Amino acid sequence: MRKLFAIMVCKLSHFVGRLVGKGSSLPGKFALKICPDVLRRVKLPEHIIAVTGSNGKTSTVEMIAAILQADGKTVVYNKEGSNQIEGVTTLVLTHATLGGRVRADVLLIESDERYAAHTFRYFHPTEFVVTNLYRDQLTRNGHPEWVYDSILPAIHPETELLLNADDPLSSCFARGHGRVKWFGLDKCSVSGDEPTGAYRDGAYCPVCHGPMEYDYVHYNHIGAFRCTKCGHRKPETDYTVTAVDLDESAVTIDGEVRIALAFRSIYNIYNILAAYAACRECGVGRETAAAVLSNYLLKNGRMQRFRLGAHEGMLLTSKHENSVAYDTNLRYIAASDRDCVVLVIVDAVSRKYFTSETSWLWDVDFDRLRAPHVKRVVLAGRYCNDLAERFSYTGVENWSVEPSIPAAAAELKSTGDEELFVVTCFSDRAKILSRVEKEA
Ligand SMILES: [Zn+2]
Repeated sequence: MRKLFAIMVCKLSHFVGRLVGKGSSLPGKFALKICPDVLRRVKLPEHIIAVTGSNGKTSTVEMIAAILQADGKTVVYNKEGSNQIEGVTTLVLTHATLGGRVRADVLLIESDERYAAHTFRYFHPTEFVVTNLYRDQLTRNGHPEWVYDSILPAIHPETELLLNADDPLSSCFARGHGRVKWFGLDKCSVSGDEPTGAYRDGAYCPVCHGPMEYDYVHYNHIGAFRCTKCGHRKPETDYTVTAVDLDESAVTIDGEVRIALAFRSIYNIYNILAAYAACRECGVGRETAAAVLSNYLLKNGRMQRFRLGAHEGMLLTSKHENSVAYDTNLRYIAASDRDCVVLVIVDAVSRKYFTSETSWLWDVDFDRLRAPHVKRVVLAGRYCNDLAERFSYTGVENWSVEPSIPAAAAELKSTGDEELFVVTCFSDRAKILSRVEKEA
């Protein structure tokens, strides 16, 4: 009875909430008050895929959904912003019959890494993808090791883990776990010899704290790691990017299927591979998965391009509080060879909560902008002085500060014709995009 009542209340409040434009976690919250273990009592689909990690959850989930749907499966999944237990409850119950059967072939869940253990208390994923674990949102997440400890109780012995073989930390989830499939990149055109970045989180083994060595890295400390003491090392991979061709904008998986990229960057390649692996584990054929991914990326993977005065512009959406996301974009700028201007905006640190904490700026490797083709850098937004303080410790020379984003845009519009890169977060990008001529 309580289950039925919880489902009805959830459906009804979801319906009302949509009418008044309210968020998606409240109906689930009501349902959990009525029946706290309702998620144990419903009949879930055969496949339950969960995705968690520091970077790439949303894009991985969207790619998995696109592939499964193209393969003819019905998929229920949560859109951005409702990835804690209340949001997941709303998702499940609004797609359930009054008898409690979820009408779908696959339940696909983006799970907040800190709250995964709550979400999976009453049911567990059949496939659990962990994209990676590294520094992200310090004020709410603390350190990656702490996030690791928060996820650990969410892992059920029967769950099949899909893990990043190139990440020394999240690969530890395989320790003592029976069912694991690995995804990773072979050494390829974009690999380097040594870890990069402003800090060295990968210098010591997360298992025994011994010194770590790297045969090659793809970005930061993500690559072929090898502990010199305990033997913790990159495992053999089940799903492998065997070649990356940035000139042709394509990657090859397992030496045979080719996926076209829309954007010449290593950014996102791990998410693509994770999505491919998860769908293959759910029975999707190689060719189908590859074809859907190529098509999806060409449609959705393009960078936002625009014009501002005589500048051709490109928005490189990053994530504040996440230095790895910043570094991938700074690396992209450093690798471009045309003369350019870079506008860095930090105005609202987060779009979900208020914080004025900017210590993460010290984790970002802004020294990458010390390149002859980077003609100047403009620092804008409420936290431009924090940025300026950080830049004063880099070797970048030609930078200036403009607190007002409209004034920075106006000044750029009237001067110069170099390529313009804007580096900022979801929370701030509309503030510049509203002042430029967007390209379709
Ligand atoms: Zn070790």
